[in-house]
Amino acid sequence: MSPREGILFVLSGPSGAGKGTVCKALTQRMPELCLSVSVTTRSPRPGEQEGVHYFFRSHQEFEGMIQRGELLEWARVFNNYYGTPRRFVEEKLQAGYDVLLEIDIQGAMQVKQRFPEGVFIFLIPPSATELQARILGRGTETDESFRQRFNAARTELQMMREYDYVVVNDVVEAACDRIQAIVTAEHCSVQRNLQLLSDW
Ligand code: ADP
Ligand code: 5GP
Repeated sequence: MSPREGILFVLSGPSGAGKGTVCKALTQRMPELCLSVSVTTRSPRPGEQEGVHYFFRSHQEFEGMIQRGELLEWARVFNNYYGTPRRFVEEKLQAGYDVLLEIDIQGAMQVKQRFPEGVFIFLIPPSATELQARILGRGTETDESFRQRFNAARTELQMMREYDYVVVNDVVEAACDRIQAIVTAEHCSVQRNLQLLSDW
């Protein structure tokens, strides 16, 4: 069988839904899934490491990356810039690996334009009350940034319609099971396996 490209998976959802937590658990159980590390202008939170959670850059450096075309997509989210380094994604896909992007909705819609064959997954918390508890429980936001994130969630939920799948993050391992099932299903889709006909 001829080698084929990997599949691009995009995970978005409101801040505090548990995207970071789920992605970490998912890549532990699926080490073959390549998680893209984004570039951001925001300051590191306690415990966040350069090159692991993000590449932390100044506004000037970020703008340089935009101008040189080094970002696959980028967006301004909660007063900071976030973007996906292009080269990592393109090289991994070409080499046949699946790639996972954990990015905001604006970025996901840009990726959808360029990669309509990508798989777009929306992660939501079980309820608004649980979302509030998770953002506050993380203990990383000021009152103002908590309000910004919590208020944005209602509008963001409406964007679920633009995605292919929705996963409720009630229990982390259960959410990972569902995403893993989506990955398996996408690998079995007829459209992605037409090569089988000619191979036969
Ligand atoms: P996001 O990346 O979507 O902003 P995080 O992964 O930072 O969200 O999760 C927000 C908070 O909620 C963290 O404190 C995390 O430990 C917690 N959390 C994530 N998923 C769950 C879950 N299924 N049940 C309970 N708490 C969770
Ligand atoms: P946080 O500051 O909580 O880590 O992330 C804030 C938001 O930025 C989240 O919705 C997260 O998904 C999004 N984000 C992280 N990396 C990227 C990226 O590379 N591009 C875009 N468009 N959004 C990102």
